[in-house]
Amino acid sequence: MFRDQMEWNRRQFLKLAATGAAAGVAAATFTGCTPNETSTLNSTSDTSTTPAPTQQNVRLEDQVWDFEVEPKYDLDAIKEEETHDVVVVGTATSGMHCIYALLEQGADVVGLEKLNSDSVVVGGIAYRRSVGFSWGFSYNSVAHNQGLKVEIDRIVQDQVRISNHKVDQKQIRRVVNLGPTVSDWQLKILREHGDDVDNLWVEDHPERHQTPLPTDATERPGQQDTYWHPLGYTIWAGDVEWALEEQAKAKFGFEVTYETTAKKLIKDDSGRVIGVIAQKADGTLVKYYGKKGVVLATGGYEGNKEMQKKYLTDADRYIVAVGKATNTGDGLLMGQWAGAKVEDWPHTVMTWDGMSPECIRAGYDYIGVARQAWLYVNAYGQRFMNEDVTFGGQGRSISIQPYAKMWTIFDDKYKDPDVEINLKGTVCRRMTTVYHTMPGPGGIMPFCTNEATQDLIDAGVILKADTLEELADLMIEKGPAFGIGNELDKEGFLKTVARYNELCEEGYDWDFGKDPICLYKVDKPPYYAVRSGCGFLVTQSGVYVDEHMRVLSKDVSRKPIEGLYAIGNVASGFNAFEFSMDTNLGSLGRAATTGYIAAHEVLGLPLEEDPKKTPFRNKNIFE
Ligand SMILES: Cc1cc2nc3c(=O)[nH]c(=O)nc-3n(C[C@H](O)[C@H](O)[C@H](O)COP(=O)(O)OP(=O)(O)OC[C@H]3O[C@@H](n4cnc5c(N)ncnc54)[C@H](O)[C@@H]3O)c2cc1C
Repeated sequence: MFRDQMEWNRRQFLKLAATGAAAGVAAATFTGCTPNETSTLNSTSDTSTTPAPTQQNVRLEDQVWDFEVEPKYDLDAIKEEETHDVVVVGTATSGMHCIYALLEQGADVVGLEKLNSDSVVVGGIAYRRSVGFSWGFSYNSVAHNQGLKVEIDRIVQDQVRISNHKVDQKQIRRVVNLGPTVSDWQLKILREHGDDVDNLWVEDHPERHQTPLPTDATERPGQQDTYWHPLGYTIWAGDVEWALEEQAKAKFGFEVTYETTAKKLIKDDSGRVIGVIAQKADGTLVKYYGKKGVVLATGGYEGNKEMQKKYLTDADRYIVAVGKATNTGDGLLMGQWAGAKVEDWPHTVMTWDGMSPECIRAGYDYIGVARQAWLYVNAYGQRFMNEDVTFGGQGRSISIQPYAKMWTIFDDKYKDPDVEINLKGTVCRRMTTVYHTMPGPGGIMPFCTNEATQDLIDAGVILKADTLEELADLMIEKGPAFGIGNELDKEGFLKTVARYNELCEEGYDWDFGKDPICLYKVDKPPYYAVRSGCGFLVTQSGVYVDEHMRVLSKDVSRKPIEGLYAIGNVASGFNAFEFSMDTNLGSLGRAATTGYIAAHEVLGLPLEEDPKKTPFRNKNIFE
């Protein structure tokens, strides 16, 4: 059965290669950080006129697609080898924290990194290997010193709920228990490096002023979601990585082994993972042995479209994948070949909205103004959702609309800071500095400034017209180029706007229940329309680990595979279906914490984690 399956895949790939599509995919995946534009994704779909052969009813888990055919190496033929205590594969967010914790404990570590030390372009911006800026540990002293409190148990429950319970609560609890410790440890290293971390900006939601429902019986949809992100502190992830790398060099003489791509794990006769085969830039293969273990810290597979097709059920509807094109799911594959249990599909992604390949070409990761809770309409001009939702929520809602795209309709009030506040942009959506400044020009994320909006108007990414009728005509004219078609029903669209204006006038959204605070009529010319779609930043599913970060076997016993650990986005069990917007259990914080845990586990060192002693735990907070 497998042979048939593989044969079919191979034939399909050859056919695509013949049309040039596969070559396009390969180029996009391996040569740079080009976004996954829809056109490219669509071009990889099967356009065969002959019926596809049966899949032989092979479970997805047992299918072997082209990208996951296990490579064979002759170990004896590989002459170069090194032996260390621990091999860490991947040296960005989770990997660098793990490496530093190992070095502090006196371990001899090698850190393999497929990239070089230059910045990588992600979306429209050049970053170091670590990407992002909002560090959500379960709690942290920066927030504590600012008198800010958080209900940790509530966050854990939300994390479990949003994951539909397909998560390992022991793992989540451990990350929560150790969050403040790891955050303090990270801040200490940054201080030693000379960074000012005592005045970091914390997302404390001063503008949190949702209108309660008349009955107050339940939270308004989006009430938690839109605002959540509580108390994460803000520092560019690349700066943290840089500080760790510099300090590791200064204090321990450690240097990252750059341009060295791990290919396959090495196991001994007992099944224990004892090392990894890696390839240097000149093609040389090297065996790196880890006496105590190997830690996979290779991130997700945002750069591997074939893997996305296998594991993301809606892969065809993502307009852009923003993360590093060089993260190709290598750790997932290596773990899989070593017998690990890969998370069942559908996998988790960090869904995003306001995504647009055109805006990335103009130098921005996303269209900030498109993500505000203005009026959203679909390809036909119909309103389809409560616009006051989380990032992922908006993205998911778009993905099931016609063409998987939408228009954000707004007017010239976008320049008014009072309106911007009430539209409630937080973290990456914030378009005003009334309460806070954040990193970026003018204290706002570069994508969310009014200058960015103006740039995108000038670039023709945002359409502008003096009347709504003219705007509708423009949307019809430009729609095909934006991949949203030309079927906008002009009369219907004008009625949609009129209806929305009526609801705003009344101050109550009978149609979708949007918070009245964000109900603004579309009545101040000029008028704007911008097409956006659903995308994702990173994938967050890989091989299952337990609370010790030990990789679990595919065998139903789920016994740990000796010697193998996984951290960050290549490790499963923490998120499912969708990234939780709770920054306090956010991705960067989790990556750092799991790196810290794995470092101690692989060395067999105990970690202080009595929840009662965990600093700033909610019980202490409310005392
Ligand atoms: C635009 C953007 C903004 C974001 N903002 C935030 C934010 O504000 N807050 C937040 O919490 N999260 C944010 N994220 C998500 C966050 O960046 C990631 O989830 C997190 O960095 C994952 O850490 P990781 O260690 O698992 O993977 P990575 O940080 O991606 O590290 C993986 C490393 O492994 C290397 N590697 C891969 N394969 C191999 C191999 N075979 N051999 C050797 N090396 C290999 C890679 O080159 C890379 O250096 C953002 C993501 C994006 C794209």
